[in-house]
Amino acid sequence: MDRPSIPIIPVPPRHALDGSVLVHPPSDAESGAAVSDQYGRPLRDLRISVTDRCNFRCVYCMPRAHFGRGHAFLARAEILDFDEILRVARLSVALGVRKIRLTGGEPLLRRDLDRLVAMLAMLPVELTLTTNGALLARQARALKSAGLDRLTVSLDALDDDRFRAINDADFGVADVLAGIDAAVAAGFAPIKINMVVQRGRNDADIVPMAARFRGSGHILRFIEYMDVGATNGWRLDQVVPAAEVVRRLEARWPLAPLGENYRGEVARRWRYRDGAGEIGLIASVTQPFCGDCTRLRLSPDGHLYACLFAGRGQALKPLLRGAADDRMLTAAIAGLWRARNDRYSEQRSAATAGLDKVEMSYIGG
Ligand code: SF4
Repeated sequence: MDRPSIPIIPVPPRHALDGSVLVHPPSDAESGAAVSDQYGRPLRDLRISVTDRCNFRCVYCMPRAHFGRGHAFLARAEILDFDEILRVARLSVALGVRKIRLTGGEPLLRRDLDRLVAMLAMLPVELTLTTNGALLARQARALKSAGLDRLTVSLDALDDDRFRAINDADFGVADVLAGIDAAVAAGFAPIKINMVVQRGRNDADIVPMAARFRGSGHILRFIEYMDVGATNGWRLDQVVPAAEVVRRLEARWPLAPLGENYRGEVARRWRYRDGAGEIGLIASVTQPFCGDCTRLRLSPDGHLYACLFAGRGQALKPLLRGAADDRMLTAAIAGLWRARNDRYSEQRSAATAGLDKVEMSYIGG
């Protein structure tokens, strides 16, 4: 689908008291230049969480003990509607965003999601989505025809018992594999498959998962278990370092490192020397990548977060539902990013692990 060029919003000239036209320096929005943060990192990626609800209760993200019966999810009136989401996205594109990822909770739970996809697909961005795959078989075709470019599917184990124990909602591996097949049939390929590896829980699936997706064209990514949020009881000894994952795979198949596709890519890429494709390692704990982090996150109720491990976000809803014009909203987004100096993964320690951090199920991974 041909994307239209970025619409630069003309700003009416302002007049000085003596009537002369005030010339103001072009802001980032008008120059189309990406706004940069305190470390010179440009704003390039916007991750939009469209719901805080999920049909899974993954133990590393949404443990049932904290997100079970009685948990207060956001009420419908609190959640941004599609026009509000589009407005934030449009203004963020003018500030440099080139990639939008739809997340959750589980984004496929959001009603009429394909309609939002069609609205966002009008922007000059790469439009992607991360899902747990259980509802994908029913929605893949509609998402594709609405203009979604790429899909990432989470699958944390190939062993059905281990998988059901991790998602803690009795979904089987077959449900997710059926979603992946439907996505391929709808035209999504390659698909990125994300596996969060926890020692003693699913690290026995590292080699079987690699065997399953080698030669498939899909890209399997192994994610180091992270201390996201404040509810998953994270411990460092449960982390399987990316280097160990590579060693385990190399015991079966020789690998070679690949370069990054673009600045800020989270995964370190490796290829099978026998040509069976590539894998990725997302090593936030042992090989942090904050130096090139270009990601901003929007929560379902309109808070902006400058880091996955942030303690608090900036509320945009009062501006969105108040009298703020695009210029004021743009200034709020740009201001947050310019002031940004987050580098949590480089500063992580036993002390920081217990900090009160935003939940991943609220702002997406
Ligand atoms: S820890 Fe924060 S700053 Fe670092 S890569 Fe993750 S989201 Fe970006």
